[in-house]
Amino acid sequence: MILDGKMVAQEERKKLCTLITSYQEMGLRAPKLAIVLVGHNPASETYVSNKMKACHEVGIEVDKLAFEEDITEQELLNVIHQLNTDSSVDGFIVQLPLPEHIRESMVLTEIDYRKDVDGLTPMSMGRSIQGLRAIPSATPAGIRTLLEYYHIQTAGKHVVVIGRSNIVGKPMAIMLMQRPYLSLPSMSASTLGDATVTVCHSKTDHLEAICRTADIIIVAAGCPGLVKANMVQPGATVIDVGINRIEDPSTPRGYRLVGDVDFEHVAPIAGAISPVPGGVGPMTIVSLLKNVVVVYGGKLLGAKVGEE
Ligand code: NAD
Repeated sequence: MILDGKMVAQEERKKLCTLITSYQEMGLRAPKLAIVLVGHNPASETYVSNKMKACHEVGIEVDKLAFEEDITEQELLNVIHQLNTDSSVDGFIVQLPLPEHIRESMVLTEIDYRKDVDGLTPMSMGRSIQGLRAIPSATPAGIRTLLEYYHIQTAGKHVVVIGRSNIVGKPMAIMLMQRPYLSLPSMSASTLGDATVTVCHSKTDHLEAICRTADIIIVAAGCPGLVKANMVQPGATVIDVGINRIEDPSTPRGYRLVGDVDFEHVAPIAGAISPVPGGVGPMTIVSLLKNVVVVYGGKLLGAKVGEE
C-alpha cells in the first residue's frame, strides 16, 4: 500500500477550506499566519512561497515579513516580540535555518508557544513531553494524520525512529510513546500513541538488526538509500521523511528528489510505504495550516493553548 500524502493532504485542505468558509459566512475574520524570513536562502524562499500558496488556497490570510541577511539578533527578537502581542496574528513561524550570527535557540525560546504553529519552541516540546496541550510539530503531526488516514495502529507496536532532530525525530518519538495524544482543545483525540519506541541515530550500533524488529520504521536522517530491503520485515510500515537532492542530468532541473529509503527494493516487502516526493512533504504543510486554524478556532471557543 502506498501512503499517498499528496492525496490525503488535498483532502485535509478541502476540510480546512470548508471550515474557514463557514467561519466567514458567520461574519468572522479569516485565520492569519505570519512568516518571518531572513536572507535569501533559495530553499527557504521556495518553502515559504509553497506555504503561502497553501494558505491562500484554504483561505488563511498570510503575511510575509522578509528581512535582509544582516538583521541583528536583537532586531529579529523585537519582531518576534511584536508578533507575540499582535492580536490580529493567530500564529507565526520563523523559517529556518537562520544566518549564523543569530542564535536559533534564542529566537525559538522567545516565540510565545501559544502562537508557535511550527511546534518547535522549548515550551511546546516540553509541554508535549509532559502530555500537556501543545501545538504539535508540523512534520510529526503530518505523519500522524497519514497513519490515521490509512488506519495504521501504533498501540503496542514497535516503532523505530531513525533520526533525533528537534524538528522530526524527537517530537515524533514523543508523540508515539505518549498515551493517545491530545494536542489542542478543538482537536479530537488522536489514535496515535501507545507505541514502544526505539530512537536510532548516526552513532547507533546494529541499525539493521534493530530495524528488522520494527512494525513501523520512520526515517528522518537525510541519507539517501539508508533503509534497505534487508532492514525491513515483511509487512512493516515504512515512513520516509528524507528529502535529498541527487544529481540527475536526465531531468530538466539536473537533479531529482529522493528519500532515505531504497524505495524500489523496500516497497515490495513493506506492508505500507510513503513515497518521496508525495508522501510526508505535503502532509507537513497541511499540518502547519491545521495548526493555524486550530489556534484560531480555539480563540473563538475561548479555549486557548496553555489553559488546561
Ligand atoms: P538532521 O540533520 O537535523 O538530523 C538527522 C538525524 O539523522 C540525526 O539525528 C542523525 O543522528 C541521524 N542520522 C544521520 N545519518 C544517519 C545514519 N547513517 N544512520 C542513522 N542515523 C543517522 O535532519 P532533520 O532536520 O531531522 O531532517 C532529516 C531529513 O528529513 C532531511 O532529509 C530533511 O530534508 C527531511 N525533512 C523532511 C521534512 C518533510 O516535510 N518531508 C521535514 C523536515 C525534514
